[in-house]
Amino acid sequence: MPFNIMTLSLVDRPVSQAEGLKILERDQFCCQYCGLDGKASFENALVMSVDFVVPRARKGKRDPGNLVACCRPCNLIKGTRVYANLDEAKKYVLAQREEMHHAWESKRGRAAARAATA
Ligand SMILES: [Zn+2]
Repeated sequence: MPFNIMTLSLVDRPVSQAEGLKILERDQFCCQYCGLDGKASFENALVMSVDFVVPRARKGKRDPGNLVACCRPCNLIKGTRVYANLDEAKKYVLAQREEMHHAWESKRGRAAARAATA
């Protein structure tokens, strides 16, 4: 299935488009942290990138074993912390997302309550 090559311009520089595409195809364009399906919509495709499980900033290798498909939000949340492995990184990212989601829900709830009483 042809995939919009434009999205790959977002791949981190040290990974070539060909390398990035290989990783995305291997992972079926799904974020390996939150499971976002990069093929489900154009918006999803736009946020897909390739993540260094061990960050480059921490001397992570540009090696398929250290690269996974990842959406930008998960990449941002994951940051440059060091994790023992992908599972540990995934646990951290998902826990952070959960926490952010709760914070967002409660803020939204308060805003809705204010709007209802105004
Ligand atoms: Zn994600």
